[in-house]
Amino acid sequence: MKKTVKDIDVRGKKIIARCDFNVPQKEGEITDDTRIRAALPTIEYLIEEGAAVILMSHLGRPEGEPNMKYTLKPVAKRLSELLGKEVIFAESPVVVDDDVRAKATSLKAGEVMLLENVRFRKEETKNGPEFAKELASLADIFVNDAFGTAHRAHASTAGVADYLPAVSGFLIEKEVKFLGNAVENPKRPFVAIMGGAKVGDKISVIENLLKKVDTLIIGGGMAYTFYKALGYEIGTSILDKDSIDLAKSLLKRAEEKGVKLLIPVDVLCAKEFKNEAETLICDSDDMPEDMMGMDIGPKTIELYKKEIERAQTVVWNGPMGVFEMENFAKGTLEIAKALGESEAVTIIGGGDSAAAVEQFGLADKMTHISTGGGASLEFLEGKELPGIAVLEEK
Ligand code: ADP
Ligand code: MG
Repeated sequence: MKKTVKDIDVRGKKIIARCDFNVPQKEGEITDDTRIRAALPTIEYLIEEGAAVILMSHLGRPEGEPNMKYTLKPVAKRLSELLGKEVIFAESPVVVDDDVRAKATSLKAGEVMLLENVRFRKEETKNGPEFAKELASLADIFVNDAFGTAHRAHASTAGVADYLPAVSGFLIEKEVKFLGNAVENPKRPFVAIMGGAKVGDKISVIENLLKKVDTLIIGGGMAYTFYKALGYEIGTSILDKDSIDLAKSLLKRAEEKGVKLLIPVDVLCAKEFKNEAETLICDSDDMPEDMMGMDIGPKTIELYKKEIERAQTVVWNGPMGVFEMENFAKGTLEIAKALGESEAVTIIGGGDSAAAVEQFGLADKMTHISTGGGASLEFLEGKELPGIAVLEEK
């Protein structure tokens, strides 16, 4: 177990906390502040406990150069509104300079300041020790609460811990608790549902989960690579050619391990990749050559729902179909609903799966929705994330 902000004395200390404020924007306006809100519990705790709080984050990909398109200034404003108190924005093209150091030195207990985008510095993504040292010099303790970037060993996510005591914030604590427990210590039956476009993206996750689960359910575009592996024709469906052999070996390994591996028994096909396209429902081994699989079919939905009903733990990553198009969202919606109704521990990982669940208004029915796309996948792969590895053990 990693130490959290609750395990240390923060009163009167200067804390430098890495958050994930990488929010979507349109013309300088933040269009979704979920990530800022997700950081509030840790920030509010630090304020209440009398720490002086210095925050840092990246935003977009400024590629190691100052670029005002990616300034964190709008985040300082939004954060100030959400906290109901001033957030000092330490504007600097190099993130840390004499003026920023002076601001940090005079920062008092209960005050909050935000540094400029850490990716304005080339050293950030290279985990350059000079930059990590500069960041560390501003504070007494490092808090990592940016789960979304915890799979990257950058100066602000890992390097800074070489120079300061390091603990986790509440967001990382929660992610580790739910994702970690689900995979290492699941209540059984443990069901994993994998979907999304390509098998190739998820090989390591499937391989790792195959060692842990009782049932592995496959949906989404990756199903057709499994069909190919079984010798079915898949029309114009999305195919991950390089992964056909891998799909074969996964089918074989599942059988050897006694894991129930389910692939869709029927398919909702379309003539074209668009919402208004002509459609047809067919069995898995009967796909027309001029159509593509866009969603799981009704028989598959029923089959998968039954499996979910029996489960005690469900980890879901990847939509069951092209859910962005209304006519092909049913499989994903029905699976999401079944998870919402289930008594099981339900964990959603992956950016698009989380977005789907939000879009359906079912987010509060799930046990945990991971805030990190890539990071949650690497966690499910069983990898140790660098931004978590550097934190002190309890
Ligand atoms: P996540 O972000 O949850 O890990 P992925 O990024 O792996 O999920 O996959 C999401 C994408 O997969 C969605 O954009 C969805 O449209 C696409 N997808 C799902 N099913 C199909 C399909 N049958 N054909 C093409 N694309 C699909
Ligand atoms: Mg995605």
